[in-house]
Amino acid sequence: MSKRPKVITITGGKGGTGKTLCAVNIATMFKNEGKNVLLIDGDVENPNTYLLFGGTLEDKKEVPFFKPTILQDKCTKCGLCAENCATHALLHIKDGFPIPILSVCSGCKLCYKICPSGAIEADHKIIGWKYQSRVNHISLLIGELKPSEARSAAVVASLLQDLDNIFKKNPDKYDVVILDTAPGAHCDVELLIEKSNLVIPVTEPTKFGHLDLLRIIELIELLNKPYKAIVNRSSLLGYRDQFLKELSENSIEILGDIPLDDDVVKSYCQGTPLMDSEGEFNKSGEAYKAFHIIFQNLKNWMNEESNNGE
Ligand code: SF4
Ligand code: SF4
Repeated sequence: MSKRPKVITITGGKGGTGKTLCAVNIATMFKNEGKNVLLIDGDVENPNTYLLFGGTLEDKKEVPFFKPTILQDKCTKCGLCAENCATHALLHIKDGFPIPILSVCSGCKLCYKICPSGAIEADHKIIGWKYQSRVNHISLLIGELKPSEARSAAVVASLLQDLDNIFKKNPDKYDVVILDTAPGAHCDVELLIEKSNLVIPVTEPTKFGHLDLLRIIELIELLNKPYKAIVNRSSLLGYRDQFLKELSENSIEILGDIPLDDDVVKSYCQGTPLMDSEGEFNKSGEAYKAFHIIFQNLKNWMNEESNNGE
């Protein structure tokens, strides 16, 4: 019987907490164990997972987005399309042709469907790109929003459509799917969290880190998903123990914490994940040991899920 892979989403309330570092290294540790891993970079305004693998953007595909074009030779100026457009993306002045305001158009196609005269053409514009590649024996699917475009959620939705197609056509293809989100708590992140079996919010031991963690947890709980946090740069400012105590007092479970370690910086510079079995990093280093603990805790969670028949 085929079984869907576990989907693990790595997220973070604010930028720069190290969520991509965690996504890349967790994907790498699964790969080290012989698992087939798909890593989806859903941080479409700043996709950089491939850089941490020393990879390149390959197999570029356009992401189209619906654009209504008014055919003036057919339009009777009835105004029905503008009246029903929920986002007010069609400006209709009495006796004039409707004017599309594309910056607020959601692409819902309602106007196209309801126009009684067939006067709206289903045109499209390109809002971004998707790339597919395989680096370090890990499959990457990367989304990129076109500069000046605002429809990042539509690019994320397109990535998730590809994931659904994989699940439909070949559910056994991957053992685990890792989703890396943009920072913050907004609709792009929500779409990715909704797909998850487990969410890992990555934070750091600062007041801002704590506040942002609480904000992203609010969203995760709203979507009714289980989560376990990672505290990155935990030795920062000597605040680790107090921070972990605060999380525990708030009943926030953690997979582990990663102290500051020069090997993390080296791995960034080399474009080789710290946990790559072929990398030349110090295997008794602080960050290396921390990632091992995190991975062990993650595998324990997966085993519990399997035992519970999830
Ligand atoms: S609904 Fe069709 S015919 Fe009516 S104003 Fe819109 S485009 Fe023109
Ligand atoms: S596609 Fe939807 S949001 Fe865009 S103009 Fe048509 S009705 Fe409005």
